[in-house]
Amino acid sequence: MFDLDSLNPQQRDAVSHTEGPLLLLAGAGSGKTRVITCRIVYLLQQRSVPAEQILAVTFTNKAAREMRERVEEMVGRKACKGMVIATFHSLCVRILKVHIERLGYKKNFSIYSAADQQQLVKRLLKDEIADATGKDAEQILWQISDAKSRLIDPEQFVSSSRDPISCLTALVYPRYQKELKAYNAVDFDDLLVLAVRLLEKNNDLLEHYQQHFRYQMVDEYQDTNPVQYRLLKLLADGHGNLCVVGDDDQSIYGFRGADVGTILNFEQDFSGTRLIKLEQNYRSSGNILTAANAVIKNNNKRKEKALWTADGAGRLVDYLICADDEDEACQVIERIHAELGRQPQLKYSDFAILYRTNTQSRAFEEQLRYENIPYVLIGGQQFFDRKEVKDVIAYLKVLVNPFDEVNLLRILNYPKRNIGATSADKLIRFSAETELPLWNVLLEPEQVPDLNPKTVEAISAFVQLLERYRYRFRQPLYLSDTLRELLEELKLAEEIYRQENDAQKARRRVENQEEVLNAMAAYLEREAEPSLVGFIEKVSLLDDDGPKKNDKEQKLAQNAVTMMSLHSSKGLEFPVVFLVGMEEGFLPHKKSIYETFDIDEERRLCYVGITRAQRQLVLLGAQQRRKYGKLEQREPSRFLVEIPEEVLVRCDSNTPQVTSPEQQAQSASNFFSGISALLGD
Ligand code: ATP
Ligand code: MG
Repeated sequence: MFDLDSLNPQQRDAVSHTEGPLLLLAGAGSGKTRVITCRIVYLLQQRSVPAEQILAVTFTNKAAREMRERVEEMVGRKACKGMVIATFHSLCVRILKVHIERLGYKKNFSIYSAADQQQLVKRLLKDEIADATGKDAEQILWQISDAKSRLIDPEQFVSSSRDPISCLTALVYPRYQKELKAYNAVDFDDLLVLAVRLLEKNNDLLEHYQQHFRYQMVDEYQDTNPVQYRLLKLLADGHGNLCVVGDDDQSIYGFRGADVGTILNFEQDFSGTRLIKLEQNYRSSGNILTAANAVIKNNNKRKEKALWTADGAGRLVDYLICADDEDEACQVIERIHAELGRQPQLKYSDFAILYRTNTQSRAFEEQLRYENIPYVLIGGQQFFDRKEVKDVIAYLKVLVNPFDEVNLLRILNYPKRNIGATSADKLIRFSAETELPLWNVLLEPEQVPDLNPKTVEAISAFVQLLERYRYRFRQPLYLSDTLRELLEELKLAEEIYRQENDAQKARRRVENQEEVLNAMAAYLEREAEPSLVGFIEKVSLLDDDGPKKNDKEQKLAQNAVTMMSLHSSKGLEFPVVFLVGMEEGFLPHKKSIYETFDIDEERRLCYVGITRAQRQLVLLGAQQRRKYGKLEQREPSRFLVEIPEEVLVRCDSNTPQVTSPEQQAQSASNFFSGISALLGD
């Protein structure tokens, strides 16, 4: 049974305020997420709200998973049946799966991955400019995504374009959207945009969902973008039972269209809002909190908060000055060993290495591997991003939706089957001229001029193979057996060995394809109503937060050091945090210094990083780094100077790593002159 007494008075207030809009605006580690989970339990147990009327939206799959687990722990699995705890994207898929036909798509629509999108835009770009690069495609996709997050349609985009890339985007965006629809495919942003359009256009559906989700909660509300906001506004209109929790100081997705104004304006947008603030932090010890408060107070536009803790001051914050990249990695490893020696209760999974950009992970990965320390890398090249895995998934996507042209082209001649690039061009041209989907062209290849008979034969065999397996995959109980037979029939393993010179690499790639089989078998075991569509949907909705790993990696992750970007670390906590690369150019990032001039968002990132630490925070920075093979001088981050000297102890890479509190105090008094010297003051 859930006990309200385990909460402080403000948290209790938030949990038991169940009707009408509620804004919980509070600093890091003050129990916002905990309030949401307790509120769900309270609704179920004290207010007898049926589980299916509860909707909780969080930012990542991992957060959604954890939230569900916490609620299940408190009330049992059965009581949670029908409750929706989801990310924005998976909530929208849920809605679209049932109603997308009203928007002219078919129910078996494909969700395009970033790689699928790239392929499509590259093809469209080729028609516009001959020498278009992958970078152009990336920038265009970025602009399309940005437009979609602001609900700007292709037609509206035209008028706002000025710079050269925008001009290209204005040309490509309408065609991109048209092609997607023709392929019965949607991209990630479409999931949100289409759900909003669906509810805007269909009053009956809108009313249905408003009634259905009587109690709505949103975590990390400071990072909602306009399309997400619009969705929430639509769903909550009428009853207004929307509880949002967030921290304006942790708004770190401005670069993706999130608008911190959304949380600051909540009270105006939802009349009758109850505002509750939390100020007690339960996560970090005092010195860490002092550092966090001192850094964030330098931002201007923010709601003043003063986080405090009933915990003691704890250990001082360490700042390790390292010689270069390698030294920084070694320092972290040494520290991990030292801490494990001092505190035997710690596990590898109690340590996290956080950085501003994913490329910073390389030196740490090398060193951790060298030392045989298990680690998980979140957000790097992930399992489902690997080429050989994408090839298998492409087959499955086409089996679900044969109009998915991007994936159809990917597998058309993979493995090699006599349908080379010239033949593919002829097929594409014919499809464009006749306005027939490529799949329909493949069904009757004889109509295509100049195709040689061998190719026609190969195409027919390819189509027959797909048709055969499409039929067989309809048997949900045999999904993984069918996939195994498909892989064997395609002889993909042989193809890999033919293409890959390095036998070891080839073996790993074949194993990765086998892991898709394992993933499918695991999916079969878990799901009450498995289907190929369901499996593909699960794979498509995996986000940057992982775990997009194979089984072996998953097991390893249970006691492994976590490495991830500051963005991915939102909402999480670790006993020991290494915040690395505390240098100008990394944090704040050079883009914010020289291009966007938005140092405040960088400071918020720094604040997010600091406040992930529970017991110990170690900041690191290098004096030099290698760039294109040359050594480059680095300057300490300006945020270091904002941390009061009494809580920070500076250690040179030559001084002893683990210091006693007295030594720490002594070093602290020497610190400020050290920083100034480094800054060249
Ligand atoms: P963030 O801003 O980083 O998302 P948050 O405000 O969501 O943080 P939580 O993750 O909910 O904070 O809580 C931080 C930690 O404090 C968790 O370990 C949580 O269990 C603990 N905690 C929260 N409230 C209390 C409380 N009243 N008593 C004891 N522990 C608490
Ligand atoms: Mg939280």
